[in-house]
Amino acid sequence: MPRIELLVIQPTPFCNIDCRYCYLPQRSSKAVVARETLVNLFTQVFASGWTGDGLSIVWHAGEPMVLPTGFYRDAFRIVEGLKPAQLAVGHSFQTNGTLIDDAWCTFFADERVNVGVSIDGPKRFHDRHRVTRAGSGTFDRTIAGIRLLRRHKVPFHVISVLSAASMAAPSELFDFYVEEGIERVCFNVEESEGDHVSQSLAETGIAEAYYRFLAEFWRLSVAAPGKISFIREIEHAIAQVIRPANAPFNNQLVEPFAITSMDWDGNISTFSPELLGLKNSAYEGFSLGNINRDALVDLPQRPNFVRLYSDIRKGVEMCRDRCGYFSVCGGGEPVNKLAENGTFVSTETTYCRLTKMRATDLVLDTLDRVRPLGVGRETASGAAAVG
Ligand code: SF4
Repeated sequence: MPRIELLVIQPTPFCNIDCRYCYLPQRSSKAVVARETLVNLFTQVFASGWTGDGLSIVWHAGEPMVLPTGFYRDAFRIVEGLKPAQLAVGHSFQTNGTLIDDAWCTFFADERVNVGVSIDGPKRFHDRHRVTRAGSGTFDRTIAGIRLLRRHKVPFHVISVLSAASMAAPSELFDFYVEEGIERVCFNVEESEGDHVSQSLAETGIAEAYYRFLAEFWRLSVAAPGKISFIREIEHAIAQVIRPANAPFNNQLVEPFAITSMDWDGNISTFSPELLGLKNSAYEGFSLGNINRDALVDLPQRPNFVRLYSDIRKGVEMCRDRCGYFSVCGGGEPVNKLAENGTFVSTETTYCRLTKMRATDLVLDTLDRVRPLGVGRETASGAAAVG
């Protein structure tokens, strides 16, 4: 039976800005999810028996804050009214931060929303890609939003998309985060997804540049205790490398419905959330059904799901057979395999070389240096499989 761990809901495809690397095809549409669609979704999800003790709901895939706070207060009350008593539900927003004001800060604090703000580092990096439809930079509005979150003591993290240029400037990024009181950071690399073809991933030597960036950023953080409390890429790599030898790796991205995504119109998909809305000539689309017309529990029997799952499984098995990093990766990101290799039935991508292989290498290399303290490759579960 599937187990839904993460529900990604697109409240609207609209975004108030127009980042140059955005993969969302409908970001100019001002459509909004209907209340009835949300009721149908939550009713079916909670009746499916597919939830466990906890469920994360991410409001994303357009700019969620273009809708009023009242929309979300209502949506959250729908969830509370329908969910099983023992199920713990947490809400997250991933936002460009440009619309944060005092009322939003109050809402985030009241509702204990987990807030992620997209900011690509200092202005000279951020404004290169994160622009308005008129082409002007959005840094000033985003950093104003972050400062308001801090003033209201709303906990948040940032996600920064790294380019080849910002990867060459780890200390500049570090100083920027420290100066702005940003303590929790996540790094993405500009990916090829949908119609967007990454320029950064095509750069020669980008994997080595990523390794050098992470290594130096980590070193700076360790050298200045109390400034940066969380670097997602390092924390994740450590958690995967140092774990009991037989502990299985759970890759949500390849488990059916572990991540369940719904667009504003009620279309449902699974695996990589970015698949929903993508067009691909080999598939008819990645929508498996519509929550307003179809039964969620019937979707795993649909031919388009069976074919999609079969291809993704084949890719995972190829990874298991061929890749020394499988034990710390679990077969990667389907959407990146499709975008970079043209098929799910494939293994390596530049994306996984950076985010899985080089991040793991960095942690293993660091463990090697501290081995005299009693931790070594032999004791790390990932290391046992990473030759
Ligand atoms: S690192 Fe890449 S090749 Fe290796 S298991 Fe992950 S996705 Fe597959």
